[in-house]
Amino acid sequence: MPAIARLIAFVLSLWFVVAAAGAQQKVLIPERLERATVTDDKGATNWAEWKADKCPNCSGTGKVKCTVCERFGDDADKCPDCKRVESRETVCRMCAGTGELPDPLLKVGCPGCVGAAFLLCTVCAGGGRLKINGAKNWSACPACRGDGAWKCGACAGKRLVEPAALKPAMKDASVKDLAKAQAVADQALKELAALTPTGGQKARKDIKALVKTFDTAGGVFPPLKRLGKPFEDYMGKIAAGSNFQGSEENEAETIAAVKQSAEYYLKHQKRMLELAHKRAEANAALPPEPKK
Ligand SMILES: [Zn+2]
Ligand SMILES: [Zn+2]
Ligand SMILES: [Zn+2]
Ligand SMILES: [Zn+2]
Repeated sequence: MPAIARLIAFVLSLWFVVAAAGAQQKVLIPERLERATVTDDKGATNWAEWKADKCPNCSGTGKVKCTVCERFGDDADKCPDCKRVESRETVCRMCAGTGELPDPLLKVGCPGCVGAAFLLCTVCAGGGRLKINGAKNWSACPACRGDGAWKCGACAGKRLVEPAALKPAMKDASVKDLAKAQAVADQALKELAALTPTGGQKARKDIKALVKTFDTAGGVFPPLKRLGKPFEDYMGKIAAGSNFQGSEENEAETIAAVKQSAEYYLKHQKRMLELAHKRAEANAALPPEPKK
């Protein structure tokens, strides 16, 4: 394979698409995140200064084509993401519009929206309108009342959130604290993996189970704690579409999308905790500094 093709294949292999509750954009594969370190003259491993690489999702422009409204009709006038501007361009979620990748030790995509800043109304797919029972004319969506989405309450619309709340911070945390946080992430991921969302009558139970996981893990991961209530409110609004055909399936998919967003956040954190743990362990194994 020619070098350039190999490079492209490598770069592409670092991405995948998360069907977040705000339609989808590419995200970095969490298991492959890296963070450079340097070894000083005493043999201690330190984090290298973060060299903000050009964001691969938007090629550094901070903007991408909107994926929310790409299948809307030409007459659509509302989109919660691009607002139907002529270029149909919107903010890149991977870099939150900065054009540069954020330091993964300090910032991570929001567990609610993965950088979208909103939770999409899945009753109307974000268009804010529906043709009910084969009607000729549009009516406002009963769930979002025409807005197409709700501002994400887990990040307050900021797109990126903070990592695990450790003292000292994750990048300087002790082996013990990092191991504890890793165990919390593992447990939460296990609970999420065990849950296959359903809609309709059983949705309540699934939503409760998810909120419980968010709350428990939220002791270490505050963004998850902040997701519980907005997620419940969100599902309450989506329930306004429960008279429509396919609503149970839609409900199940909406819960699954939030679950996937939270899983992405946790996998990102798991990986960074792993890297921080490796570094802390290497430094803990160093002979103690000679006393002066
Ligand atoms: Zn970007
Ligand atoms: Zn759009
Ligand atoms: Zn709607
Ligand atoms: Zn968010």
